[in-house]
Amino acid sequence: MLIQFLGGAMEVTGSTHVLSTKKSRVLRDAGLFQGRRAESRQKNETTFVNMEPVDCMVLSHAHIDHCGNIPLLVKNGYAGPIHTHAATKDLCDLMLLDSAHIQELDAEYLSRKLDPDDPLIAPLYSEEEAEASLQYFVPHHYHERVQLTEDIGVTFLEAGHILGSASHIFDIKEGRRKIKVGYALDLGRKNLPIIRDPEYLTDIDALVMEATYGNRYHKDINQAEDLLAGVINRTFKRGGKIIIPAFALERAQEIIHTLMKMYDAKLTPMLPIYIDSPLACEVSKVFGKHPETYDEETLELAKSRTRMYMREFVHLISTVEESKALNDDPSSMIIISASGMCESGRILHHLKNNVEDPRNAVVIVGYQAENTLGRRIVDRAKEIKIFGQYYRMNAERVVLNTFSGHADKGDLMDFVSHVGDRCKTFVLVHGERQSIMDLAENIRALRPDARVLTPERFDTISI
Ligand SMILES: [Zn+2]
Ligand SMILES: [Zn+2]
Repeated sequence: MLIQFLGGAMEVTGSTHVLSTKKSRVLRDAGLFQGRRAESRQKNETTFVNMEPVDCMVLSHAHIDHCGNIPLLVKNGYAGPIHTHAATKDLCDLMLLDSAHIQELDAEYLSRKLDPDDPLIAPLYSEEEAEASLQYFVPHHYHERVQLTEDIGVTFLEAGHILGSASHIFDIKEGRRKIKVGYALDLGRKNLPIIRDPEYLTDIDALVMEATYGNRYHKDINQAEDLLAGVINRTFKRGGKIIIPAFALERAQEIIHTLMKMYDAKLTPMLPIYIDSPLACEVSKVFGKHPETYDEETLELAKSRTRMYMREFVHLISTVEESKALNDDPSSMIIISASGMCESGRILHHLKNNVEDPRNAVVIVGYQAENTLGRRIVDRAKEIKIFGQYYRMNAERVVLNTFSGHADKGDLMDFVSHVGDRCKTFVLVHGERQSIMDLAENIRALRPDARVLTPERFDTISI
């Protein structure tokens, strides 16, 4: 069997892999490329134009770098099933429409910069096109096996990354040969808030694995509360505001969940929390619909006093007016807003209005890809550019990788050590080059009997 990497190889975004035999072709994920505008647009536009048709698709989770190109896939003629976890299906209903909305705003913005005679720039896909792709989703649950084609089946396992995220084991029949390929992409970590821990993949011949944090360790997740409490207490003393850019999906819910626990333990003053992201509010409702995916602690909390705190301290902001009113309110508060990498959305207004005041704090809680505004904040840029204007970055900057939903170097090596001797091929994707190379070296040292592959975009490997 063959695997071709159309995206997410030697880079973090754009995950798109095709598994094929002589008889069938299965697409795993169709992720949007993000980063430098023109370059990503070119990659997104061409991925499926040159791809040979596939029989069906399997989707790992609802992050845009894995599902964001599905509307384009359908636009290019795909009309088969998209097999995914039930929670991922519900999340994609929201995420794909939101992505289309961002594409439309983006196209509008770019079109405004054109000469009057130039043709307008069309969005990558429209809200109608995103809507049209949703009809192909087929919901499944963990530990379910689906026969995808005559010779390829797939089993869904817990990836412990975000709500509904799945690792997969593909079982492939090639003549008398049976091959099992594990997919740990994206892979979460133990003890994340809300969801259950990732399951190990065993009894497989090959493992395709992410390497986002292939050469870095996260701080212990159990320190998250202390670190977050520290910055809240410092900022409160200064009379400032705490701005948290957070992905509307998962991170926002995790942060709220953690704040509620902190308030309960009286670790900080109970500042009002404003969720300024209509999408985050909608996503929270999907979390409420899927208690079957919660860990034990969350099931307990769902029954306890947390609900009361939610009503009292968490304010959902829906209109632009309400969002703007937060700027005129001088009191200390926590603003959680999207997008998570500060590339678009209401977070830009909050950053613009708050970064120059040294009393405030900007708390980065998620991965920031290269060439994003979020990355420049992490890299301690003295000035940041928002809507064409420069702002001095005087606010306190705090980077908390503690909340990362991705396995770190230690988790990845632990995962590899549990795979078992049958696995003779390790394939590293979904990471920046150095991270992939460093992790490959470590796996080669641990498993000198196996081959460790680090494919480039468009490479095909044989298993
Ligand atoms: Zn992800
Ligand atoms: Zn990803």
